[in-house]
Amino acid sequence: MTRRYSGPLDVLRTVFGYDAFKGHQEAVIEAVMAGDDALVLMPTGGGKSLCYQVPALLMPGLTVVVSPLIALMQDQVTALEVLGVRAAFLNSTLEPAEAHAVQRDAVDGRLDLLYVAPERLLTEPFLALLDVLRSGGRLSLFAIDEAHCVSQWGHDFRPEYIRLGMLAERYPGVPRIALTATADGRTREEIVERLRLEDAKRFVASFDRPNIRYRVVEKTEAKAQFLEFYGGRHAGESGIVYCLSRKGVDATATWLRSRGVTALAYHAGLEAEQRRERQERFLRDDGVVMVATVAFGMGIDKPDVRFVAHLDLPKSLEGYYQETGRAGRDGEPAEAFMTYGLQDVVQVTRLLESGGGDERHRRAERQRLEALLAYCETPGCRRQALLAYFGEELQDPCGNCDTCLEPVETFDGTVAAQKLLSTAVRTGQRFGAGHLIDVLLGNETDRMKSLRHDGLSTFGIGTELDVAGWRSVVRQLLANGHLVPDPDGFGGLRLGPGAGDVLRGDVKVVMRRDRLRRKAARSGRGRGATSAPILSPEDEGLFQELRALRAEIAKDQGIPPYVVFHDKTLREMISAMPATRAELARVSGVGAAKLERYGARFLSVLTAARESAGN
Ligand code: ADP
Ligand code: ZN
Repeated sequence: MTRRYSGPLDVLRTVFGYDAFKGHQEAVIEAVMAGDDALVLMPTGGGKSLCYQVPALLMPGLTVVVSPLIALMQDQVTALEVLGVRAAFLNSTLEPAEAHAVQRDAVDGRLDLLYVAPERLLTEPFLALLDVLRSGGRLSLFAIDEAHCVSQWGHDFRPEYIRLGMLAERYPGVPRIALTATADGRTREEIVERLRLEDAKRFVASFDRPNIRYRVVEKTEAKAQFLEFYGGRHAGESGIVYCLSRKGVDATATWLRSRGVTALAYHAGLEAEQRRERQERFLRDDGVVMVATVAFGMGIDKPDVRFVAHLDLPKSLEGYYQETGRAGRDGEPAEAFMTYGLQDVVQVTRLLESGGGDERHRRAERQRLEALLAYCETPGCRRQALLAYFGEELQDPCGNCDTCLEPVETFDGTVAAQKLLSTAVRTGQRFGAGHLIDVLLGNETDRMKSLRHDGLSTFGIGTELDVAGWRSVVRQLLANGHLVPDPDGFGGLRLGPGAGDVLRGDVKVVMRRDRLRRKAARSGRGRGATSAPILSPEDEGLFQELRALRAEIAKDQGIPPYVVFHDKTLREMISAMPATRAELARVSGVGAAKLERYGARFLSVLTAARESAGN
């Protein structure tokens, strides 16, 4: 069999239809083709797949891709087939005869890429197959995707991943490349150790996702706040809405549907078949809003998710980063939206405290929670805060998050902090925010009288702020650790380690003024840079025609629309208005196979549009 490509760039252009490599792609490809192992850390949407797909087409034998999720491998193989690449997968969904045929193709050299689940790879028959290829010099490369699945501490732990270390011994000299979008250092070291990648070249990209705009608002009516966000900027677009509980998911999806939104619910309480169906609809139809618990999302490879909303506080900043990272894989503008309030903090804390586990584990969890709260409450650039958590420094404020776009006013909150902290002390460090605020505002509740708290020296001394203002103060004190939730989990608030310094006036507390932010956010609404470029009415019409054609093709072939062409590619067609096949081939995302398959139909829509514009 002959190889038709002159090198990586040729493959990139001819097969994938892209002009240039992104980030570390080229260096990674060079390394594995030179026989080195590689560890690749890139954010979602960074372009990890090409790092092994391009070598697979240039190296003489088979590239074996280990992938943890069946849906993910099927999607990738479909996308490759559409590009004319010889790829297949082996997993439990195949009938024995089908699996056998795939194995034959692998042995006979009819495949460049074979995707397998880890448990399949580790079976004796499969290893025997690899041995055969190996002895014929036809085993090119192992790619271990989602490599963080080896981490026992992560959410995606897969025991079989640990055993993949054996590939190093059994197939010395066959390069291995491990890839993940998980940023933290501990996971990275675990991958190296367990997969025996001590000598691997490391490629660590920035974890910034510049096309995602971050926004966090104070929770009042989460569902209605989301609807306003959605209607204002994302109507008709695909997105994911995360809620903490199954009940919350069902209620939110139902409510959104009653408001005319195409919303589906997804959580672990549904039948497997129902989950599969809904996931399928999310992938295949344009403009579905998936309301889900965090059970949904890993392995969702949909490139045109335009927003991810959290209506409840996420579990950690890592989780938040992963979940929001599902937006905008195609690099087009996307938005991460969160509503969050004091109630969330109390609820999450209660879960955390009642969750069992040893004290060390709980302390680690509490630190994570504090980091998350600090992110929510930061008066500074959110992107800087988020990246700093992963050990990455962003020099300047990003200009694409809510606090950059609508700067937050800060004020010296030392006195407010002292009033609140001393009220907590005077009431025995057992009460929650509601009662402490009642004391400060001088509310004569029944509880106040029966506890005789109306006689405290701090009773009624806080009328300079209203309830919302005080709740904001409490949240900020929780975020910086001056207040800590009572370990008994009843919502009582105690003083944190640094609170004494605040009470004595030794340190100043700078706070953000939330009320002003809300006003600013309202006046600054409208289509911002987060939306795709606004097209003229004629172009918009043409865009819709191209999308309709894409939908028709996708439906006929039983594949998701984005596998045909991305939105970005359709938009480029409109700005380039190619008249010939050669011109269409120059549009980014149009490779040789897609040109062959779809070129004529897209050209005819473009030609018709040009002619009617000429009249
Ligand atoms: P990851 O697996 O890192 O999340 P993917 O491999 O799915 O990312 O790539 C993300 C998107 O970027 C895909 O739509 C892919 O086609 C596109 N892409 C990858 N490399 C390039 C490139 N060099 N030029 C243009 N687009 C690219
Ligand atoms: Zn910013």
